[in-house]
Amino acid sequence: MMIIMKAEATEAEIQAVVDRIESVGAKAHPSRGAEVCVIGAIGDREHVARLDLEAHAGVDSVVPILKPYKLASWQLAHERSTLQFAGRKVGGDHFTMIAGPCTVETRDQVLTTARIVRDAGGAFYRGGAYKPRTSPYAFQGLGQEGLRLLAEAKAETGLPIVTELMDARDLEPVLEVADVIQVGARNMQNYPLLAEIGRSNRPTLIKRGLTATLEELLMAAEYVLKEGNENVMLCERGIRTFETAYRFTLDLMAVPVLKELTHLPIIVDPSHAAGRRDLVGPLSLAAAAVGADGIIVEIHPEPDEAICDGPQALRADEFAAYAERVEQAAALAGKVVSAPA
Ligand code: PEP
Ligand code: MN
Repeated sequence: MMIIMKAEATEAEIQAVVDRIESVGAKAHPSRGAEVCVIGAIGDREHVARLDLEAHAGVDSVVPILKPYKLASWQLAHERSTLQFAGRKVGGDHFTMIAGPCTVETRDQVLTTARIVRDAGGAFYRGGAYKPRTSPYAFQGLGQEGLRLLAEAKAETGLPIVTELMDARDLEPVLEVADVIQVGARNMQNYPLLAEIGRSNRPTLIKRGLTATLEELLMAAEYVLKEGNENVMLCERGIRTFETAYRFTLDLMAVPVLKELTHLPIIVDPSHAAGRRDLVGPLSLAAAAVGADGIIVEIHPEPDEAICDGPQALRADEFAAYAERVEQAAALAGKVVSAPA
């Protein structure tokens, strides 16, 4: 349920409603907008309905949240969330460039790439230490050694780190370096992992599963939000269709449609969708033009030598020019490029 307070409701009245909701074991999520405070009551609907909250001082109306995802819903927030962490703003009017290699390979590769991302004004540095690979015989990532190299890149460049967590047992070491925990497409419906990330309170980027609907993606976000972690970003990274001419089909319609359904920022990953370097530039421009809140893109100093996802990696020395073009498209769509702190 959603409790809409009157514009003139006092803090004491808001707190009284929160206490009343929590007295029946439901959770209250107040969000203070420019005009009014709206309190989401998440829990047993019957219990909340019996509280007769309409009669409470300061309450304007009580309406049901119609979607199965509640905290992620546009209905609850009624304005875009601008997330603020690691000295960056994500969502709202901001456009966020996240770049780096698919996977951490060597110290030289990681540091060279990180310097390039920093010099081009990138907001975050990405790189996987734990890699979800289709084949169990393929390189699985450097693990803890990879995390150590990411920490070094962060210390040198000041760039916050986006890195994937595949297994909740690795949460602790990942928390030591990750400013944003990436949930990979293949783990989007790993509910215990999502809940664990929710409890960790670390910002997270959830990638859409290969065959996931937008509603399923939003339900994944709900698992994190439910634990009180508000810093959730969604990522469209291509879905599986009947088309075999490219790796996945980038569903750019998901961007405006998600914006109707949720207040959370939407990031687009053109690299994994395309699987081909030549498509990454045009797809990034299209994503920016359609209103994406940011891009996560793979770059590599020597893509031909990359251990993982080389064919889709942009050449690192071409990143600055690429970023400038994409950010121009984002500006045309009304975005401000997130300047590093
Ligand atoms: C990645 O970002 O390197 C990755 C493996 O992405 P996805 O989970 O979208 O395939
Ligand atoms: Mn990759």
